[in-house]
Amino acid sequence: MASKLTGTVALVTGASSGIGVDAARQLAEQGAAVALVARRKERLETLAAEITEAGGTALAVEADITDRDQAEAAVRQTVERFGRLDILVNNAGLMLLGPVVGADPREWERMIAVNVQGLLHTTHAALPHLLKAAEEGPRQVADIVNISSIAGRQAWENYGVYNLTKFGVNGFTESLRQELAGRHVRVGVLEPGAVDTELGSHNNATIHAEMLDPFNAQHERLVPADIADGITYMVTRPRRTAIAELWVMPTDQA
Ligand code: NDP
Repeated sequence: MASKLTGTVALVTGASSGIGVDAARQLAEQGAAVALVARRKERLETLAAEITEAGGTALAVEADITDRDQAEAAVRQTVERFGRLDILVNNAGLMLLGPVVGADPREWERMIAVNVQGLLHTTHAALPHLLKAAEEGPRQVADIVNISSIAGRQAWENYGVYNLTKFGVNGFTESLRQELAGRHVRVGVLEPGAVDTELGSHNNATIHAEMLDPFNAQHERLVPADIADGITYMVTRPRRTAIAELWVMPTDQA
């Protein structure tokens, strides 16, 4: 049975854990061939095997997207293998929290490298293929979905540079949306509230004890599939409909 994304190819960054895993699963269920991009290759291969077993098509692509050459190579490998690229999900991300005063600037650089520069690298490499897909592809439309955050809409103390990166993603997304609107490449941003993933795990014990653990104890967080639902919704709209922004929150998160 033909599904909504039959004949398309999607590339998902950050497909080795959390939101990216379920995004890849759902896009594959809809019929897209999916390139799984991240650094932890074993995990990508396990997911690719699972998707293949379920009747889908997937390719594990090991890449550190902070390195422009590797990001470009990931896009190239995808197009070489599947012949095209219709959908880019810029999902890879890093969140390191804490005060600005006394911060280790290397943590800021790591966040900016993944959340901003990595997203730019994959977007730049993918655009020629997406423009071609919008002209010649089965759907006559192509998609970029950028995974931002509620932290791209609201700023909080101790979220400083994470806020900076996600506000930046929102601004870049809207600018690119306007640039590409007439060429039928849809560019949208999805802003999740709290989701139960590995995202917080890279923070130190103090941040866990003072910020993350108390928050998690008080709220029922979303599961990654909830955000994957949103991504799938955005990329399966009719050609005439572009979801420019989707803000998905846990019901009990103010
Ligand atoms: P996870 O930590 O579970 O996943 C992050 C993914 O990014 C991993 O697959 C990781 O793979 C990948 N990644 C990190 N650095 C790189 C890199 N240099 N090159 C390639 N891939 C990289 O977190 P989530 O699933 O929660 O995060 C996904 C997105 O959702 C992020 O952009 C995050 O900011 C956003 N988000 C998450 C929220 C949450 O509450 N969880 C809320 C709002 C937004 P690997 O380490 O194998 O490279």
